[in-house]
Amino acid sequence: MTTVVHTAEELDAVLAPFRHEGTVIALVPTMGALHEGHIELVRRARQDADVVVVSIFVNPLQFSAGEDFDRYPRSLDNDVAKLDGSADIVFAPTPEVMYPEGQTSRFSAGKVGELFEGASRPGHFDGVLTAVARLFDLVLPNVAVFGQKDAQQVFVISDMVAASFPDLALVIIPTVREEDGLALSSRNVYLSESEREDARVIPHALLAATHAARHSSASGIVCAGKKVFEQYPLVRLEYLELVDPSTFEPVENDYAGEATLIVAAYVGSTRLIDTENLEIIHA
Ligand code: AMP
Repeated sequence: MTTVVHTAEELDAVLAPFRHEGTVIALVPTMGALHEGHIELVRRARQDADVVVVSIFVNPLQFSAGEDFDRYPRSLDNDVAKLDGSADIVFAPTPEVMYPEGQTSRFSAGKVGELFEGASRPGHFDGVLTAVARLFDLVLPNVAVFGQKDAQQVFVISDMVAASFPDLALVIIPTVREEDGLALSSRNVYLSESEREDARVIPHALLAATHAARHSSASGIVCAGKKVFEQYPLVRLEYLELVDPSTFEPVENDYAGEATLIVAAYVGSTRLIDTENLEIIHA
């Protein structure tokens, strides 16, 4: 049975029996509309934890004006049904519970927070960090589980955890994909049938870039990925970049070693992101 709570007091009451030395509390933060990717995070959380808390909160602070905050899919009952058995507690707070002092961002994601996703979505990562920090303060987890799909989010959260939550262990899970490679995302429900076909450009591009990494330097790898997008005129590529995983800055053309390929594109009016880690051998 999964217990659903909405307030800080209810959360404290259900977690009280677990708040002692040696008991591991795991938190999986989500915005709901759960899919198999989220469920994989919950399964992983279960491996390490005595109690698994899944938070479901569509965080207004991480949406810019004109984004899909209002139409973001919300389905608490369905989500709880999907979780049954795998999570112990669902924490579904209201904005007032999350932000009793008002809806303003209290964390800054710094310079990296202004690149890529942050450039397209000003204030996005400050909003993400503010929500995640508040969830950490409320749940007091020992372990928190996130998906690698949101690579830049993982980067800024890791930084915040190192600086402000040094006792918290972060676990990062590989991206769960559809059979044709499309990353599962709550936003995939926005896609029409033909847009869903077009969305395959993203995993195709990641694959082409990964193949190119066997024989090309950074610019050749990026070119190989972008070339795939040329075959999909209805998809608007926003960025496709290779970044250094230790800084999240774009790599120079003579870079060799582990790199993170990141991509964002509009398929119709739906903005999708994806990522792949690869190794650049040829500088
Ligand atoms: P969201 O509900 O989209 O904010 O995502 C909540 C968590 O699930 C984040 O840590 C995401 O990175 C993770 N996540 C979303 N999609 C996937 C996926 N396809 N595979 C693995 N993790 C995912």
